[in-house]
Amino acid sequence: MDLTLHNSMTKTKQVFNPADSERVTMYMCGPTVYNHAHIGNFRAAVAFDMVYRVLRHKYGADKIVYARNFTDIEDKIIVAAKKINQPIEAITTKYAEIYRNESGALNILKPNLEPLATAHVTQMITIIEQLLDAGVAYSEQDHILFDITQYKEYGALSNLKMDDMIAGARVEVAPYKRNPADFVLWKPSNEDEPGWETPGAWGLSGPGRPGWHLECSAMIKENLGTTIDLHCGGQDLRFPHHENEIAQSVCAHNAPLANFWLHNGFLQMGKDKMSKSVGNVALLCDLLGDWQGEVLRWALISAHYRQPLEWSEDLLVQSKKQLDRFYRLFAEHNITDSTKVDTATIHSLYDDINTPGAIASLHALRDKASNETGTEKTGTLQTLLASGRLMGLFEQDPGRWFQGESHDTGESASDIDALVEARTNAKKSRDFARADAIRDELLAKGIVLEDGPDGTSWRRE
Ligand code: AMP
Ligand code: ZN
Repeated sequence: MDLTLHNSMTKTKQVFNPADSERVTMYMCGPTVYNHAHIGNFRAAVAFDMVYRVLRHKYGADKIVYARNFTDIEDKIIVAAKKINQPIEAITTKYAEIYRNESGALNILKPNLEPLATAHVTQMITIIEQLLDAGVAYSEQDHILFDITQYKEYGALSNLKMDDMIAGARVEVAPYKRNPADFVLWKPSNEDEPGWETPGAWGLSGPGRPGWHLECSAMIKENLGTTIDLHCGGQDLRFPHHENEIAQSVCAHNAPLANFWLHNGFLQMGKDKMSKSVGNVALLCDLLGDWQGEVLRWALISAHYRQPLEWSEDLLVQSKKQLDRFYRLFAEHNITDSTKVDTATIHSLYDDINTPGAIASLHALRDKASNETGTEKTGTLQTLLASGRLMGLFEQDPGRWFQGESHDTGESASDIDALVEARTNAKKSRDFARADAIRDELLAKGIVLEDGPDGTSWRRE
C-alpha cells in the first residue's frame, strides 16, 4: 500500500518514496529549551511521532533515522540564564530533560538522534565559509549575513513574495543588512554572552555565535545527509525559518535540503493560537497533574495534523471517556498483547496520517467485537489493541488504567473487603472461575490482591 503525504513544497498530496528505503531520513525542528513547554508546542512532536511510527511500520523500525534537535543556544536562553546568574547549560540541560520526560508521558517515541546546536558550531562555521566562498553571504558590522537576492527560489515554500515579506514587517530591518529580508548567519557576542572564536579570514573583531536558522542546516548535513527524505515542523516555521534553511543549505551544498516538507496546524484556545505571548497556554507539566498522558495524546490526534485543533476541557473529558471504554474492554477480556494491525487503520494512516479516520477504525473494531463471542471476539480485541498501539495508544497496563480514579476505584474499603471475602468463599467451594473474575474486576480498578499464609490482603496500586 502506498503512503501518501501532503508536501508543503508542492502543495499537493504525493506518494512518498524515500531515496533509500534502507535508510529513511527525517528531521523535525525541535524545541528551544529554556522553560516549560505548553501543549501547543507538543502538537508537532506528537504529529511527527505519528509519521515516524507509520514509517517504521512501512519500512521497518531499524530503517528510519529520525533526528529532532534541541536548540540550546538562543537569545531567549541567554536572557533566562542571566536572570538566574547561571551558565546556559544549567537551563538547557534541565529543560531538555523535562521535555524528554514529558514526551515519554505522551507516548512519543524517542527519536534516533537528538542533536544539540552547541555541538555543531564547527559544522555551522563550515557552511558559512562555503556561503562566503560562493558569494551569497557578506560581512557587515561584525555580522555575517545571507544575501537573499542571490537565491532566486527564495519564498517558494511559503509562497511569499519579497515585497509581501517586507511590507508585512515579518523580517527585522537592521543597519547591517543590505536587504531587510537578509538573515543573520553569525552575530557578535558580548563578553557576558556565550561566544565562539571566529575564523580570522572573516575579519570580525571578536567572538560570536550563530544565528538561529543555521543550526538545522548544519545538524541535518552532519547527522542525516545532504538531502533528506522528510523535513517537519510547525506551520509558523515555513517562513522565515524553513525558507532560510533551504536557501543556505542549497547554496552551500548545491542540492535540495529535503524532498518532502510537512507542517502541522496550530493548537488553538478558542479562535486564538495557544501562545506564550497571548498568555493562553496550558503547560504540559500542569496538564499531566490532572490527566493521563495518553488522554492528552488522544486529544492531540483527534484532529488531522494539518488542521487547527481547538483545545478545551470538553475535548479532554471526551478523550478520557473514549479511552476508558477501550481500556475497560481490554481489562475485562484480559487482552494484553498482539501484533496484528487492522487494515482499515493502516489505510487511514497511510493516507496523509489521517488520525481521525484511524480512530474511527478503532471504534469500528470495538463495535464488531461487541457482536462477537469466544475466540472471534478475543481476536478482534487483539487486533484493536495492536491497531491502537501502532498509534501510540493503549500502551498502559489495562489493569492499571483506572487506578486512583474516584469513579472507577471508588469502592470503599468495606466494599473491597466484601469482594475479597466473596472470592475466598468462591475458592473454598472450588468455584475458581468466580474467584478469578473477582480478582480481575478488582485489578481493573487498580486494586491488587495478594494471597498469603494468613489469607488475602489487598492494596491500591
Ligand atoms: P514558541 O515556544 O511559542 O516559540 O513555539 C515554539 C514552536 O512550537 C513554534 O515554532 C511552533 O512550531 C510550535 N507551536 C507554538 N505554539 C503552537 C500552537 N499553538 N500550536 C502548534 N504549534 C505551536
Ligand atoms: Zn529548523
